[in-house]
Amino acid sequence: MSKNLTKRSEDYSKWYNELVVKADLAENSGVRGCMVIKPYGYAIWEKMQAELDRMFKETGHQNAYFPLFIPKSYFSKEASHVDGFAKECAVVTHYRLRTAADGKTIEVDPDAKLEEELIVRPTSETIIWDTYKGWIQSYRDLPLLINQWANVVRWEMRTRLFLRTAEFLWQEGHTAHATEKEAVAEAEQMMNVYADFAENFMAIPVIKGVKTANERFAGAIETYCIEALMQDGKALQAGTSHFLGQNFAKAFDVKFANKEGKQEHVWATSWGVSTRLMGALVMTHSDDNGLVLPPNLAPIQVVIVPIYRNDEQFDAVSDAANELMAKLRKLNISVKYDNRDTHKPGFKFNEYELKGVPVRIGLGPKDLENGTFEVARRDTLTKEIVSNTDIVTYIQDLLEEIQTNLYAKAQTYRDSHITEVNSFDEFKEVLENKGGFISAHWDGTPETEDKIKDLTKATIRCITLDRKEEAGACVLTGNPSVGRVLFAKAY
Ligand code: AMP
Repeated sequence: MSKNLTKRSEDYSKWYNELVVKADLAENSGVRGCMVIKPYGYAIWEKMQAELDRMFKETGHQNAYFPLFIPKSYFSKEASHVDGFAKECAVVTHYRLRTAADGKTIEVDPDAKLEEELIVRPTSETIIWDTYKGWIQSYRDLPLLINQWANVVRWEMRTRLFLRTAEFLWQEGHTAHATEKEAVAEAEQMMNVYADFAENFMAIPVIKGVKTANERFAGAIETYCIEALMQDGKALQAGTSHFLGQNFAKAFDVKFANKEGKQEHVWATSWGVSTRLMGALVMTHSDDNGLVLPPNLAPIQVVIVPIYRNDEQFDAVSDAANELMAKLRKLNISVKYDNRDTHKPGFKFNEYELKGVPVRIGLGPKDLENGTFEVARRDTLTKEIVSNTDIVTYIQDLLEEIQTNLYAKAQTYRDSHITEVNSFDEFKEVLENKGGFISAHWDGTPETEDKIKDLTKATIRCITLDRKEEAGACVLTGNPSVGRVLFAKAY
C-alpha cells in the first residue's frame, strides 16, 4: 500500500489532515464541522475512555447521564457562562417537519414551534446544577462526585478533525462540595489525574498551570489546565479543570444545611477532556511514515505478518504464529495475525507502519528453520532478530521500552522548546523561527494579553503552577511583572 503522505516539514497541517484520514482514524462528514470517527480511531478513543474511567472511579466518582437539550432559560441563569457560550450554540426551535405545498419538499412546520427553545448542550453545568438542587439538602449529601460521558455541540467556525469539531465526544465531571477548600482540592486533583493520564498513558508530557482571566472557562473562578506541545511548535490545551466557586449554586439556588443547621451555597467544580486528545496523540508522536502509537493506547500492540510461497509454508508459519499469539495473549498483549492472502507482506508492512502498530513480527520459512523471529519496532523503525526462546519476554520488555522512549522523545522536544525571552523583539523572533513555549514577563493585564495576541497570534497558555516569583518588566509594556508566564501559538 502506498502511503504518499505529505512530509511534516513541507506542510505540517496537511500532513496531519492526511494522516488522520489515511490511518483510518476519522473523516469529514456531510455535516459541516462534524466528523465520522472510524473503527480504528474509535478503538483508540475507547482505550482512552477505559483508562480515564478507571481513574475517575478510583478517585471516587460515579457516572450518570443528563439530557442533551437545555432549556434556554436555564442557560441564561449564570451571566458570564451564557456570555461565553452564546456565540456558539445550536438551538432547537421546532419539533416537527411537514411536506411543503409542492408535495415533495420537506420543510419545518411553522405550527410546531417550541414554546421555549432548547440549546443543544455545549457543556452541562446548567442542566446539572438544576438537577443537583433536588439532590442536595444537607452536608451529608456532599461531596457529590459525578462524571458524564457524552457528546456536546459548540458551533465552531474553523474546525479540524479531532482538534476542533462542532460536535465532539468528551467526559465532563461535575462535583459539589461543602467548602471552598474541598472544591479547590478537587479541581487540582482532576488536573493531576489528567496530567498523569497524558504522561503515563499517552506518553505526552504536559505543563500544569492556571489560565488567565481571558482564557478562563465562562463561569469559572479558576481554570486549571494541562498544556502539551505539538511537533510543529504549537501548543494544545489537552484538558481543563475548573473551580466554579458558588456561581452555579447561586444561579440555581443550590443550598445545603451545614453541621450547625445553617443554609449555605454549595461549592462546585467541573472538568473535561475530549476527542481533541486524539489530535494530541497524532501530533505528538507520529512521523512522515504515519501514525506512531504508544503501546498503552494501541488497539493492536503486536502484528504478525506471515511470509510464504506455498500452502505448506503457510501452514507451518501459521502454527508458529498461533503458538506465539497464545503466549502473548496470556500476558494481555493484544496481537493480530494478519493471514489475509489477498495482500502481499510488503503491503501489510506499510499498512501497519501507517497505522502505528508498535511492534511488527515478520515470520517466514527461514525464521522457522533458524528458530527466530524478525521483530520491527515502529518508533525507531529498527529491526532485530530474536530467538524463539526469548521472544515472549523480549516483546513484553519492548512494549514497555517503546512507551518510555516515546515519552522521553516528546519530553526532550518539549523541554528544548521552552525559551525565556526578555524583549518583544526576541519574543517575535523566537515565535517566528523556533516556536514552542515562550517564557516571558507580562504585566498581568488582559489588555496587554490581547495586544500581544493581536500582534503575534500567541496567547498565554498558562501561568505554571510551579512558577518562581521573579520581579521583571513586561515584554510588551515594560510595566512591572511578578513572574513569567508561558506564551505560545495554540491549536
Ligand atoms: P472546556 O469545557 O472549554 O474547558 O473544554 C473542555 C475540554 O474540551 C478541553 O480539554 C478542551 O480542550 C476540549 N475542547 C473544547 N472545545 C473543543 C472542540 N471544539 N473540539 C474538541 N475539543 C474541544
